[in-house]
Amino acid sequence: YAAGAPARLIIRFNTRITGFLLDGTGLIPRLSVSTVGRSALSAPQVDAEGTTFMDFAEASMAAADAELLAESGPVKWVKLSAREGGGTRLSVKLEEGYRAIVRDRSCDDGNAVVDFALAVCRVEWYEEPGCTVVDIATSGPVDAKPFRLKEPSRLVVDLPRVWAAGIPPSAVQSRSVEQVRLAQFTEDTARAVLDLGEAWAYVWEALPGNRGIRLRVGSSPVFGRTVLIDPGHGGTDPGSVRDGVFEKDLNLDMALKLKQLLAESGAQVVMTRDSDCSVQLSDRSRMANELMPDAVISIHCNSTTWDVFPSGTETYYCNAVPYSQELAALTHTCVVRELKLMDRKVRRGDYHVVRETCAPAILVEVGFMSNGMDLQKLRDSEFRQKAALGMFNGLSMYLGSEMFRKWRAEQTAVPQMR
Ligand SMILES: [Zn+2]
Repeated sequence: YAAGAPARLIIRFNTRITGFLLDGTGLIPRLSVSTVGRSALSAPQVDAEGTTFMDFAEASMAAADAELLAESGPVKWVKLSAREGGGTRLSVKLEEGYRAIVRDRSCDDGNAVVDFALAVCRVEWYEEPGCTVVDIATSGPVDAKPFRLKEPSRLVVDLPRVWAAGIPPSAVQSRSVEQVRLAQFTEDTARAVLDLGEAWAYVWEALPGNRGIRLRVGSSPVFGRTVLIDPGHGGTDPGSVRDGVFEKDLNLDMALKLKQLLAESGAQVVMTRDSDCSVQLSDRSRMANELMPDAVISIHCNSTTWDVFPSGTETYYCNAVPYSQELAALTHTCVVRELKLMDRKVRRGDYHVVRETCAPAILVEVGFMSNGMDLQKLRDSEFRQKAALGMFNGLSMYLGSEMFRKWRAEQTAVPQMR
């Protein structure tokens, strides 16, 4: 030692590696390396050839280089080799996407343990009409299926073969999703939890190559629902004609306005016509019965030839399909509230489209073209926008109602949030 410097005695224990064992029985394969004496394992790195390696500092091999070929699973081979200048290198060839995870790098108990698992490489969210989209991307293919838990409301996805300990939560702060939390649920399965806000239905799909999952959580009750809009008349059939105004044009305009409101909230909208063309009544009901939407709404304007001039809004239902009457009542209330025309009530009416359709179906007579005051309002685009908003609000209330969702849950496998 140098004169004046404090005396220092260094004792090196010669650590030896005595063997290793690959256990592939779990979802996450585990490699155990037995050592005699203390050692430390470096953090895993990947070289240019894609081989994962980590080093035991100051540990020597009991025998010459050792190699193990795995027969299946994500670990292709494992090799232990002496390094020039001391130490031992552990090299592993892994299937693409898998990472080496060293739980405890100090290996004090004479047994170094390395797991080989997939990783969560990305948690992302963005808004789409009527829903929040959450992507949880993994470094390799996973078999992930979501399910829901209540109180508090949350959506859970288990990710087998994934290691996700120590990942901080991702704040989302959208209307339907508050945050995404990741944790290690079991030794070989990670769990993602979406804490939900005002959430309705959800749908999901696998990301390309099954590398994770994409969840869409609806923030509106119309999200994921199918609505058939039927603008009355069209083409060679103008409907009522007053003062040069054709009923078919008013109906189509309100239908297109309603379509936009529904689409903005994530509903699937189908129209019996979206231009000025002729469509037979039988074709309209056939479309409805082939599509079997969650709701059918036929839009008309009323007219009389009587010498009294009634004014106001009427809503009709006819079929005995569960909840056509409730759909009519909710929609009627909302349209009347928006338009403030005379409330001429919900009625049972023998109209073809509402009679021959096997889905919940209603027909709204927005106002009377034969009434001068009503007609003046109907000619105003802003008034027609209010009519569309009233219909949209009614559909939202109906599609969000407990009775509808209970009934729909029995009909279909679309996941329900409430
Ligand atoms: Zn009509």
